Parts: sequence; structure tokens; C-alpha cells
Amino acid sequence: MIKSGIMKVTNSISELRRWRGQEGAVSWGLVPTMGFLHEGHLSLVRQARVENDRVAVSIFVNPTQFAPHEDLATYPRNLERDLALLQAEQVDLIFTPDAAAIYPSGFQTYITVEELSQRLEGASRPAHFRGVATVVAKLFNIFQPSRAYFGQKDAQQTVIIRQMVRDLNFNVEVVIGPTVREADGLALSSRNQYLNLAERAAATILYRALMKAQHRYNQGERQAAALRQLIYDTIAQEPLARLDYASVAAQDSLLELETVNQPALISLAVFIGRTRLIDNILINS
Ligand code: AMP
Repeated sequence: MIKSGIMKVTNSISELRRWRGQEGAVSWGLVPTMGFLHEGHLSLVRQARVENDRVAVSIFVNPTQFAPHEDLATYPRNLERDLALLQAEQVDLIFTPDAAAIYPSGFQTYITVEELSQRLEGASRPAHFRGVATVVAKLFNIFQPSRAYFGQKDAQQTVIIRQMVRDLNFNVEVVIGPTVREADGLALSSRNQYLNLAERAAATILYRALMKAQHRYNQGERQAAALRQLIYDTIAQEPLARLDYASVAAQDSLLELETVNQPALISLAVFIGRTRLIDNILINS
């Protein structure tokens, strides 16, 4: 495998394109992130490192995927630490644009993956996936990667990106990496940073609820309503937790199931104090 050895960092689209163009015919893996990196991000970077000649990481807290009342202003950032972590993973190229580079004044073209974007997270976050699809499409156009890496942690995002790639004929292989968890099951997330000690302890309720549903499924339960109810009841036992939604849906369409007789996605969103966390598992896949 060819490795360039020196990590390049730029916030400029034209500079990135110049570097990208100089490299010739090598494969590029792209890992899009919002920074404040953890082992979940780094697991994707490592997979990209193995599968491609060059690895690029974007770090961009994308304003269009946040609603006005959400946490854009307070979203955790630590670029210096992120760059050190990526250097250690032998990443070749880091793109750190500011919002004006991605959304110059007059910007008005958005991508909406219409039906999938309305389900699950979309009900609580109506414009979220329009922002995600738009920025990922732009990153694909800017980088022209051979492969792009996304985490199963954001299950709906993976389904939407795959749909967009199919619908718009992007010449990119979408690769999904497994959810990386803390020892107690909590899925790693930059937003875990917001939790105080009591909330951090309470946050394990998401994974515990998913494991209960999985166990009940393994015991033979196929009624999706019973599995949802089990999740409601489990979350209700934790005083610091407030359920936003629990879903047992088809993995491809994200439509709610009545009977679990096809590959299913069990997912949930829960407020722990003021912090909104999501998690999911795949069953019968
Ligand atoms: P974010 O910075 O939160 O936008 O995440 C960037 C990428 O990392 C997305 O594809 C996420 O799905 C993925 N990711 C975030 N958390 C995890 C995790 N715990 N395990 C695996 N992938 C993750």
C-alpha cells in the first residue's frame, strides 16, 4: 500500500482539490465527522486505513442539520486534540472548513431523501436529514472518495446516505462500521460529554432497554408492539430518562413493523436530563 506519511490539514476546498488531484489513481477513504473524536470515529478511520491507499477525515459541525433550539453553539469542539488523534492513525488529509466555505452566501441547493427522512429521528428533527444529506453530498463532490465510512450508531443516517447514493448515482461505496460502546454498553457519542455523573450512570438505560428487547425477541416474541412496550416500561423505570421514541421498524424502509418477520431495526431516542441520546440494534439480519 502506498502511504504519503505527512498529514495535510486544510480548510480550503480549492487546496484540497489541488492535493487530491496531485495523487493520481489511488483509492481514497473518507470519514465524515463533526469532530470531538472518540473511539467510534477512530474505528471508522482504522477500517478506512486498511481498505484504502489514502484516508481523509472531514471535521465540520454542520449547521444545517441542527434545529434552532438544538445544540449547535455548545456542540463540543477540540480541534487540536482531534488532529493529534488522527495523526496517530496515519490519516493523510483533514478537511476543516468553516460554515462560510460550505454554505457561502446565497447558498440555496439542498438534498432531501424524502420518505426516509420523515421517519424515526425525522419526526423529532424535521430538517435534520436534509442538512445531513446536503453536506454529505457536498463532501462526496469535494473529495470524490472511493469509499465513505459511517457508523451504525446513526442507523437512519446510514439508510438515508445509501438511498441518496443510489438515487443520485454517486460513485462511492458506502461502508458501515459497528457501534463502539463503553464497557457498560453506552454507545460512544460526542454528546456524552454533556452528561453529569448521575446522568452518565442513567444513560446506560438505552442499551439495557435494547438488550431486554433483544432477549425477549430471542425468546420468541415477534409482536413489535410488545417489544416497544418493553422499551417504554424499561425507560420509565429510570427517573432521569424521558423517552422521545422507541421503534421496531424494517431495516430497509424504516417503516414500523407489526410482526418482526424480516430484518428489523430496534431504535430509540431518550432525553437524559437535557441531553438527547440515540441508540439501536439490528435483529434478524
Ligand atoms: P459525528 O461526529 O457524530 O457526526 O459522527 C461521525 C461518524 O462517526 C458518523 O458516521 C457516526 O455514525 C459515527 N459514529 C459516531 N459514534 C459512533 C460509535 N459509537 N460507534 C461507531 N460509529 C460512530
